[in-house]
Amino acid sequence: MMNASDKQIDGLRFLLAGKLTEGADTVDVENPSTNALIARAPQASHAQLDNAIAAAMQASGWAADEVLRRAALRTMSEMVNANRDTLARTLSLEIGLPFKAAQDEISASAAFLLYRADAETPLDVLHDDARQRVEVVRKPIGVVGAIIPWNAPMLIACEKIATAFAVGNTVVMKPSPLAPLTLLQLGELISDVVPPGVLSILPGGAELGTALVAHPQVGMISFTGSIRAGQAIMANAAPGLKRLSLELGGNDAAIVLPDADVASVAPRLFTGAFYRSGQVCAAIKRLYVHRDIAAPLTEALRNVAEAAVLGDPFDPAVTLGPLSNRQQFEIVKGLVDAAVRQGGSVVTGGSPLNRPGNFFRPTLITDVDETNPLVQEEQFGPALPIISYDSVDEAVARANDTRFGLGGSVWTSDVDTGSAVARRIQSGSVWVNRHGLVLPDVPFGGMKLSGLGRANGNVGFDSYAELQTVSVAKPREAKSR
Ligand code: NAD
Repeated sequence: MMNASDKQIDGLRFLLAGKLTEGADTVDVENPSTNALIARAPQASHAQLDNAIAAAMQASGWAADEVLRRAALRTMSEMVNANRDTLARTLSLEIGLPFKAAQDEISASAAFLLYRADAETPLDVLHDDARQRVEVVRKPIGVVGAIIPWNAPMLIACEKIATAFAVGNTVVMKPSPLAPLTLLQLGELISDVVPPGVLSILPGGAELGTALVAHPQVGMISFTGSIRAGQAIMANAAPGLKRLSLELGGNDAAIVLPDADVASVAPRLFTGAFYRSGQVCAAIKRLYVHRDIAAPLTEALRNVAEAAVLGDPFDPAVTLGPLSNRQQFEIVKGLVDAAVRQGGSVVTGGSPLNRPGNFFRPTLITDVDETNPLVQEEQFGPALPIISYDSVDEAVARANDTRFGLGGSVWTSDVDTGSAVARRIQSGSVWVNRHGLVLPDVPFGGMKLSGLGRANGNVGFDSYAELQTVSVAKPREAKSR
């Protein structure tokens, strides 16, 4: 469906109730590396949304047929793997991700599908004795509305589809209008794999998302995106008391202890902050470094940043691509400019590349404190504030002085100390000597404004289920009553 050129693509279709369907309208999709128009993506209408939800309600047999669901997930995983490079090309093209990183996202998406194809269904047997059997079983909620951001569309979509299907739900999914193409392609690829109605992928904007959330027959909303949209969704879901999974923004702190080995942590810290040009929910967005090693670590990071190759995502030498859309480019540029206006010193970067596309140099900024917007806000881009601290208590207090709570990390040569400090960080995930590792069997989600509920693992499974307590009195006890 798509190659690496800027040839404009028209006539794209989306998966609606088992059929590839034309849109009611279109939205322009830009190549972030050139700002050229690459596609006119279809937009679904409200009537098409109603049809998708009706078909999802009627997908009979799906909820009761675990064997069919596991087989469908396995086949989807195989098809995603088999089409890895085609999907990765589309992903690189629409969000500017270096091709190798795009291949990795497609492979990870297949792995998330496969995990749920094989994972055991949780069952809690609380009592099983002569008197009674009490267990907690998982039931599907029904139709899950899944709303996807632009930054890692395939991985986030596949995680939601996999978990929803594993429980026995059906899914009506809405990609971001800023990055719909890879998910349209996924819909084409798997249109025959799942029964009609079990999955619809309807592209559209916030207005279509609002209608999906409000629809009375949608029982759960699984949303990944900004805090602002998450709050609107929670309010919109309140009248129906809908089940919610909200995976929202972060402003992760990394704390580097004075015993950390500068040469070995610098490249890993850089990756934690700058992978995918920093457009990762759980990227390092604030770096707290003990004053004793602040100068050598800043210098080591500058060397790593200046060795990074910023450019065309399809060039194999390139390690960093552009910001994925103009809107995000303006946010990052605005925060860097404001940081400098408030006294921040640019160690390296600080400006866009002088060429078309949304290219912004990897940027390190020192001489900033907690009041600086680059420290307070989620930059979601290649700009990292470096802040010195004197005591671990001070570093932990500063790391926690935020309304965000997605991830955090501690870097040290002593993993016991690191684990103890990590537990003091108020975030849904904490890592020691790594940052941002997300696995299908490991719970992930946010404290505070970074979200509600957890994805992945058994906890993630339960987010997509109604828990039912089944309490059975056994005959002997029944007689004695
Ligand atoms: P966004 O909130 O602007 O949009 C996300 C999706 O929600 C899009 O599909 C959009 O059309 C839709 N939407 C927007 N307003 C809506 C509303 N009122 N009702 C229903 N749908 C609505 O987010 P974005 O800019 O696409 O993504 C970037 C954000 O996502 C960052 O803050 C990032 O940290 C966060 N994110 C979080 C995670 C996580 O797992 N916690 C993962 C990836 C991204």
